[in-house]
Amino acid sequence: MNRLWVRISLVIAGVAIFIALVPLIFRPEPPPWPAAVGEPRPPEFAPLALTEAQLTDIQQRANAMVWWRAVLHLRRTVAVGAVIGLVVGVWLSRGLIRPLMELEKGATAVARQDLTYRVPEKGSQEVRSLTRSFNQMAAELQNQESLRRNMLADVTHELRHPVHILQGNLQGILDGVFPLEMTEIAFLAEQTQHLGQLVNDLHELALAEAHELPLHKMETDLGAVVQDALEAIRPLAVEQAVGLRWERPSAALWLTIDPMRIRQVIQNLLSNAIRYTMPGGTISLILAQEAQAVSLQITDNGMGIAATDLAHIFDRFYRAAASRDRGQEGTGLGLAIAKAIVEAHHGRITASSPGPQQGSTFTVRLEMGD
Ligand code: ADP
Repeated sequence: MNRLWVRISLVIAGVAIFIALVPLIFRPEPPPWPAAVGEPRPPEFAPLALTEAQLTDIQQRANAMVWWRAVLHLRRTVAVGAVIGLVVGVWLSRGLIRPLMELEKGATAVARQDLTYRVPEKGSQEVRSLTRSFNQMAAELQNQESLRRNMLADVTHELRHPVHILQGNLQGILDGVFPLEMTEIAFLAEQTQHLGQLVNDLHELALAEAHELPLHKMETDLGAVVQDALEAIRPLAVEQAVGLRWERPSAALWLTIDPMRIRQVIQNLLSNAIRYTMPGGTISLILAQEAQAVSLQITDNGMGIAATDLAHIFDRFYRAAASRDRGQEGTGLGLAIAKAIVEAHHGRITASSPGPQQGSTFTVRLEMGD
């Protein structure tokens, strides 16, 4: 009933019925008897003793009368119908067009960068659905815009910190406040490394989020990729006295992936696990085949993640208060990049933790047929 085509059909049918009823409402008066010149109207029950010529004459005049009546009827019907049709048409089209005009107002507002504007849902089902889509689009644009602004603010904030340190310390050395010693130079070199890492991470993230990260997908045994990532990270684990536990499955698990990118994700998760686990802790990896997917679980018994942080750790620049308090180095971009890479493979990455100081588990799930 609320569909546009139903409404239009009902109104057209209504107007048609009205026009059809007009002749009944406006019945024309019987026309005068078309009298021949000077001839009186024949009495109603006149004796029918008429000549042939008179009969023909009466027949002709009766025909003329019927035509006259018909034409009169038609004219009135058309005139009244046209007026009613016009009034109803104007009323109907205004009703139909009003929500479209609201939409036009909304489009103009969005074009003026007023992304908070929402169009009220009115009118037929189709127009309501169009309005809903428009509002969703405006909300998504608003969300993107706020992400862009936050990103800009975050990038500025993150870049400013190491740049200030570099400027301040170099100026101190120039002014003779700080001695030009190897420890000072090493500290400054560390800051430039951090800056370089930040710029690289940002570049990768920007590419991944724009779906422009080049992926060189090939048939790959995921077990071999995990093994490579483990070997690369092992010296760090040894240095931090964190144990690595992993049993490579006997059968190969073939997936169509970019091995370098997936290795980057695994290394990132492993280096986080090492970083957020105390010496003496353990990290275990489980690689399992599911119905149509392969899942890799990386579990540590480190500092864990609070429930309030879990919802945000994949956001860019998000660093849980606990890890910041412990003075852990990091850009807060690693998990955002890992998520973007996994999603570019149509996979999923999730995190869980029973709570602070109770360890964490990160799971990467990749489809087999992809
Ligand atoms: P960062 O460079 O800070 O490690 P990430 O994006 O890799 O950035 O991680 C975001 C945040 O998620 C970290 O700051 C930390 O608070 C939390 N986190 C990540 N991995 C772990 C882990 N294994 N255990 C506890 N917290 C973690």
